[in-house]
Amino acid sequence: MDIGCAIAAGMMSSEVSSLGSVQKLEQSCCSVISAELRGQAAPKDHGGGRKRGKRCEHTKCELVDYHALPEFLKDNEFVLRYYRAEWPLKETLLSIFSIHNETVNVWTHLVGFFIFLVLALNTATVLPNTSDGTTTSVQVLGVSSGSDLYEDKVKVASYARSPQELRDELMSSSIEHLEIAERTLANCSPRNISRSRSFLHGSVLQSVSKEEVVNKVAAPPPTLEPITRWPFLAFLCGSMFCLLTSSVCHLISCHSQKMAYIMLRLDYVGISALIVTSFYPLVFYSFMCRPFLCNLYMGFITGFGAVTVTASLVPAFQTAEFRAVRAGIFFLMGFSGLVPILHKLVAFGHRPEVVLSAGYELLMGVFYGLGVVVYATRIPERWTPGQFDIVGHSHQLFHVLVIAGAYAHYLACLTYLQWRDVDRYC
Ligand SMILES: [Zn+2]
Repeated sequence: MDIGCAIAAGMMSSEVSSLGSVQKLEQSCCSVISAELRGQAAPKDHGGGRKRGKRCEHTKCELVDYHALPEFLKDNEFVLRYYRAEWPLKETLLSIFSIHNETVNVWTHLVGFFIFLVLALNTATVLPNTSDGTTTSVQVLGVSSGSDLYEDKVKVASYARSPQELRDELMSSSIEHLEIAERTLANCSPRNISRSRSFLHGSVLQSVSKEEVVNKVAAPPPTLEPITRWPFLAFLCGSMFCLLTSSVCHLISCHSQKMAYIMLRLDYVGISALIVTSFYPLVFYSFMCRPFLCNLYMGFITGFGAVTVTASLVPAFQTAEFRAVRAGIFFLMGFSGLVPILHKLVAFGHRPEVVLSAGYELLMGVFYGLGVVVYATRIPERWTPGQFDIVGHSHQLFHVLVIAGAYAHYLACLTYLQWRDVDRYC
């Protein structure tokens, strides 16, 4: 199971009628789950160590057909061949470099892991340096958006893209522009207030030379520290953790039922981590100047995730009776993201960055939703069973859509930085 399982499980509860049963989806999500959901005990001697050893000792570890699988590995009846079943651990691990029906599943999320690793390194090292100090004073002004001053700021920014350009423009501009600049600066960040207001206030009235005023207005801005990256990095780490555990799950769950049992729990932790950390940039950057709301949302989802992880370690949580509870919990975790998204649109909908980030978040939902549909319906392999055993079956498509969804969220995070690196005010 992987992130898709969480999303699938969550979305399933609202799409049961159209997509099939929760049971079917969860069974298809990860081969590990199926046996557990059916409440089956581990086959005592099915593929036990002795038999496993024999299988690989006298014959090469070989790929088998669906009908030859132990029950706990039977998951997708439309994928007919190329299964690994209860291989020794070493051979199971080395099978990452061989062709079987999990190869693409392993590598899609492993490649996804490395993609997000690169994105995380870029975020941690490159992005903080994007503020090069050549921007205009306008860009460091913390003027409340929607106000008259914000409009002034936009006006000034529209004709001033660098200090020199601003200086040139102001020198040839009317007194009206100077007044705009003065008003803007006089109501900007405290650092600018302290140095600008006293100088500019009355400067025009006192017939200070225009050049002097212009030089002051167009002075290079103080360097503004980029907004903290920790919520963004937390999301990237959550993504990497989830993708990596998913990849490992697909690689080694076939080793034994015990291994499958362990991997299932690790997957739950990975899924919860991704969902929880996906909230952090959304909530932090949207409500950073409303500490109560920020702490409320972040505390809620963190507590929710902690409870889910804890519950997932309890064996009873895995029983069939708790199937609806499991699906409901993951669904609620993901779906509750709608609340802060709608809230930020109501509070900051006039900001283009907020609308754009919500658009990316909608795109993320579309990718995840499409993935769930493909996943639950087992398209395309159900149309021609056996034709997509190695490449092209639904779970592989689903993995790609999950990565696309996470990348859409990454783009939303970049938009948050563009907003908050410049504007720290609500
Ligand atoms: Zn998967």
